Amino acid sequence: HLTSKDYADYIRKAYRLIHEKGDYITELDSATGDGDHWININMGFEKLVEAANELEEMTVFEEFKKIGTIMMSVIGGSSGVLYGSAYLAAAKTLKEKETIQNENLCEVLDAMLQAIMSRGNAQPGWKTMIDSLAPAVQCYKDCILNQVDEKTCLSRVKQAAIDGAESTKDMEAVRGRATYQANKGVGHLDPGAVTMSYQIATLMDCVL
Ligand code: ADP
Ligand code: MG
Ligand code: MG
Repeated sequence: HLTSKDYADYIRKAYRLIHEKGDYITELDSATGDGDHWININMGFEKLVEAANELEEMTVFEEFKKIGTIMMSVIGGSSGVLYGSAYLAAAKTLKEKETIQNENLCEVLDAMLQAIMSRGNAQPGWKTMIDSLAPAVQCYKDCILNQVDEKTCLSRVKQAAIDGAESTKDMEAVRGRATYQANKGVGHLDPGAVTMSYQIATLMDCVL
């Protein structure tokens, strides 16, 4: 399970990974988009890390609301609104909860997925961040349903997120800036899916 302090530590860890992948993510968004995805997401996490001491003192519900508000206001571009909505929706599943249990974490990720799909008006397979998150959530649900032990479950979810991001390479974009490309971005990874996979992978490592 995760306490608010654990989640704040997760934020610090995710920031370190995102921060060091700057050139790579910028290259990805330059190939199919406007090149700012890393700047956007990195700035968001930088502000979250600055607020981390405050975040770890809150309930998980308040913590998620605060993260959503920060992301919404700090991250420019599509991803700010999408992550903001995702965290606000996830917060609702955590009302009156002390910590985030394994089953709650699946609900949290599912709430994020539903919020992003609805806010972005997008489906899986459309070459977006959804293509990392959706397979991770599906995998998580399958593991819980089949009573897969927690360690195996979390490492499968992590792998599903990574494989999902990898699968965007062959997809034709139906949402996001890659739709402006003549070939709809085929042959390039979606930057938003890659940064989503970093976050999910780091989160799973924190619970493992
Ligand atoms: P912008 O495209 O406005 O510059 P970013 O570069 O920060 O914003 O984020 C781009 C990422 O956002 C894409 O790689 C994609 O994963 C995601 N994205 C864009 N539009 C949508 C959408 N409608 N639904 C879901 N995800 C989207
Ligand atoms: Mg961009
Ligand atoms: Mg932009």
